[in-house]
Amino acid sequence: MGISPKDELAQLAEEAARCVRCPLYRDATQVVFGEGPAGAKIMMIGEQPGDQEDRAGRPFVGAAGRVLDQALNEAGLQRSAIYITNAVKHFKHEVRGKRRLHKHPNRYEIGQCRWWLEREFAAIDPVFIVALGAIAASVLMGRPITLANARGRLLRWRDGRAGFATIHPSAVLRMPDDLSRARAFESLSKDLRRALSLAKSLTSGSG
Ligand code: SF4
Repeated sequence: MGISPKDELAQLAEEAARCVRCPLYRDATQVVFGEGPAGAKIMMIGEQPGDQEDRAGRPFVGAAGRVLDQALNEAGLQRSAIYITNAVKHFKHEVRGKRRLHKHPNRYEIGQCRWWLEREFAAIDPVFIVALGAIAASVLMGRPITLANARGRLLRWRDGRAGFATIHPSAVLRMPDDLSRARAFESLSKDLRRALSLAKSLTSGSG
């Protein structure tokens, strides 16, 4: 008897906690592994954990996570049904005074951390993968892509799985005023509704 997907994920998370495949573990508090049911048909991938995720050890629990939860609710998607993770599992940042500012992972760090992402794919075998932001979309496509080209339509990722790309929820928070924030939020919810509809059409016959 092989190991169950649930146990496999728990084992992976335990192993990732000791990962030294790239230097990012050194300045982070802890690894932030993916979270969600092992039988999830939909998987969502962001770039990397942020400050609050690093402290909590859980993905998408900070301000961007709250935006995502709200957008998921409006789109009729239950977060509890989705497996959610990041392309890079440790928080990359620089310290400025008392603040820890997000820094984008580089190509080497992304490449090294892909090892874990591939194992999450193998354990969960998702039918539909949503990329949150251009970095996650580029990781999944295996080459740099922009949201201007990829956003809002059915995609085929490099491994042949179906997917969709939209903005990272932190993009909503970075908008300069209430009106642009509301518009960005509405566009994220609309994208997630579309993603759900595409995912449903692909998963309806798959049990
Ligand atoms: S970022 Fe990924 S590859 Fe780098 S140490 Fe952390 S878990 Fe390992």
